[in-house]
Amino acid sequence: MTDIGHKRAVRYALGIIMIVLIIVIAGAVSSRVIEPPDDRVSVAATIFPIADIVTQVAGDVVDVELVLDPGASPHTFELTPQKASRLANVDIVFAIGFGLDDWATQVASISGSDVVELNQYVELDCAGVCDPHYWLSMPNAIGITNSIVEKLVTLDPEHADIFAQNAEEYITELEVAQGNIDSIFMDAPSHDLVVFHDSWNYFANAYGLNIRGTFEPAPGREPTPKQLAELQNTIKEFNIQSIYREPQLSESALAPFVKDLDIQIRTIDPLGGVEGRLSYIDLMLYNAHAIASP
Ligand SMILES: [Zn+2]
Repeated sequence: MTDIGHKRAVRYALGIIMIVLIIVIAGAVSSRVIEPPDDRVSVAATIFPIADIVTQVAGDVVDVELVLDPGASPHTFELTPQKASRLANVDIVFAIGFGLDDWATQVASISGSDVVELNQYVELDCAGVCDPHYWLSMPNAIGITNSIVEKLVTLDPEHADIFAQNAEEYITELEVAQGNIDSIFMDAPSHDLVVFHDSWNYFANAYGLNIRGTFEPAPGREPTPKQLAELQNTIKEFNIQSIYREPQLSESALAPFVKDLDIQIRTIDPLGGVEGRLSYIDLMLYNAHAIASP
């Protein structure tokens, strides 16, 4: 081969190498952007607050399926065939546990995945039985976030940095919201309240409130006349001005009860996922304002 011929051959070879490199890089970039659906991690969350926290940590690299429709109660959940088909490919089911969403096991069996309860880093109230409504306090939401980030890193180690960064930013947002809620309650006219069902103990403990009575001690079951008489006394004793219903539970028995008492019916919401409560943080702020406003 002549010297010129040799140089031309080298240039030719380099050109080929460049083209191959461009194809490889382009392929790598496009496969990151459009990942085949099977490669994406998909998780289910039993209730809206968990689904929102998972989404905050996962960003857009993980698919999040909410199991319980907004407006429905976890205490009376039933799995429909349509829902079952949407949950057929999830890699894990995030749940609360302690009897709130026992149906998570049924959901996980559809896809052959596991249930992960998020109570590892939260402060639980387990006097007698454990109260499952632990997501209703900001410090516990931080614990839930830490459990979620750990699990997502195990499921999808390729995106570990994104999850860690998102979790850190989200925890800062939760801390800011915690400060806002504290100042909302600083100006509240009363810290005594009567709630509809027994789901507000964590919230009350976190913000210095006293739950003086519960309208429906067993969720979904109407109170007995004896329980109603006791509640009436409590309302008078503590000069309670409002009783707090919940959007997910039937309140048909509530109206006749408050009629003679000259108190208001207001709404607080443990689950959200509806207009005005489309994030966990907005849900918590909504509840704080509803309880603290005169
Ligand atoms: Zn409940």
